[in-house]
Amino acid sequence: MTAVPQERRVVTAIPGPKSQELQARRNATVAAGVGSVLPVFTTRAGGGIIEDVDGNRLIDFGSGIAVTSVGASAEAVVRRASAQLAEFTHSCFMVTPYEGYVEVCEQLAELTPGDHPKKSALFNSGAEAVENAVKIARAYTKRQAVVVFDHGYHGRTNLTMALTSKNMPYKNGFGPFAPEVYRVPVAYGYRWPSGPENAGAEASAQAIDMINKQIGADNVAAIIIEPVLGEGGFIEPAKGFLPAVARFAKDNGIVFVADEIQSGFCRTGQWFACEDEGIVPDLITTAKGIAGGLPLSAVTGRAEIMDAAHSGGLGGTYGGNPVACAGALGSIETMKELDLNAKARRIEEIMKARLTAIQEKYDIVGDIRGRGAMIAVELVKSGSKDPNPEATAALAKACHSVGLLVLTCGTYGNVLRFLPPLVIGEDLLNEGLDLLEDAFAGV
Ligand SMILES: *Cc1c(COP(=O)(O)O)cnc(C)c1O
Repeated sequence: MTAVPQERRVVTAIPGPKSQELQARRNATVAAGVGSVLPVFTTRAGGGIIEDVDGNRLIDFGSGIAVTSVGASAEAVVRRASAQLAEFTHSCFMVTPYEGYVEVCEQLAELTPGDHPKKSALFNSGAEAVENAVKIARAYTKRQAVVVFDHGYHGRTNLTMALTSKNMPYKNGFGPFAPEVYRVPVAYGYRWPSGPENAGAEASAQAIDMINKQIGADNVAAIIIEPVLGEGGFIEPAKGFLPAVARFAKDNGIVFVADEIQSGFCRTGQWFACEDEGIVPDLITTAKGIAGGLPLSAVTGRAEIMDAAHSGGLGGTYGGNPVACAGALGSIETMKELDLNAKARRIEEIMKARLTAIQEKYDIVGDIRGRGAMIAVELVKSGSKDPNPEATAALAKACHSVGLLVLTCGTYGNVLRFLPPLVIGEDLLNEGLDLLEDAFAGV
């Protein structure tokens, strides 16, 4: 294995001729429903760089959607996963177990908020973790209703589509959806009618009122929320919102689930984003950043809740695959050794300073928000708060053409989001921000 040089390099159009050839083959055989943000075909990736088949090297502000926080070829992940591959690829934990799975659960118990006894169950994808959190909460409470929030995203399976807020592209035409799912307001400060300073108290009061009036607190098994809403636009619920909702859950015997699939594992400069307001969730779902790019997810929580499901009620053929568990142990080891929480906070400092300077020059930057290496700008039409998805798409395209991979998100498609690997060099980070600034000048 050779390390990818940590330098941007653009030697062809992006996508280049070889990527275009592969894209034609892809279009002939890969289902149209599976999209790609940028059809450059990857050959190598690591640190802050993605290399493509044409020899271009892109600066990575996406991390494969918040996954490769330790880089896409982190030494400890590669070493541990390779060693595990040579030993055995699979036995099925439900048939004959192995130590790696147990070690990952021990790490989750140590790293997640709260010092109560905790247990975990491992799965493959984020959606699967969320589905299992619902199963566990229903088994524990013997209730059925699930409460989720405006702008929330929880996955693409049937139940998680129902939990997800946005219709296009996630839900349109794919119903009917799972029943007993209820959506309530979230404290979206930038767009809250009476201003961000009132959003936390007002939105939590509205949400709680809706639960009481429309569902009945006694019928609610779980309240599920992302402590920083990811796909919905990197919305940090305004101060006071999360504690009020968590307290309401506690007072009413409702399982409070923090979906930290995108915000977890050092991404926001804490092991988990809910730590910022001192929230201790009953259950926490993790995936994305957990295993350095290998497919793994988990539900972790209070032992008495986690143990409510009967033996054999949870699991799956591949859940907690031994290679993925080895990858997770390598990833967690890297996060601790390199203090990636501190790195994430440093990335925030650099990014927010640069983005603030851009905002002073361009009034289409409505809001700058996020924490750690989970930072976004919300783009609006000049002199208003009207969403500006056209400028967002144009900016993303301009960045892509010069070798900076950025992603978009948001209910209104008007948020540029930045999720660099936490191991990105500061020179590359600054170069990426220079390119972004140039893109603003051009749009
Ligand atoms: C990505 C994501 C999911 C779904 O994870 P998959 O691995 O794509 O199934 C669920 N919740 C949140 C908050 C996410 O960001």
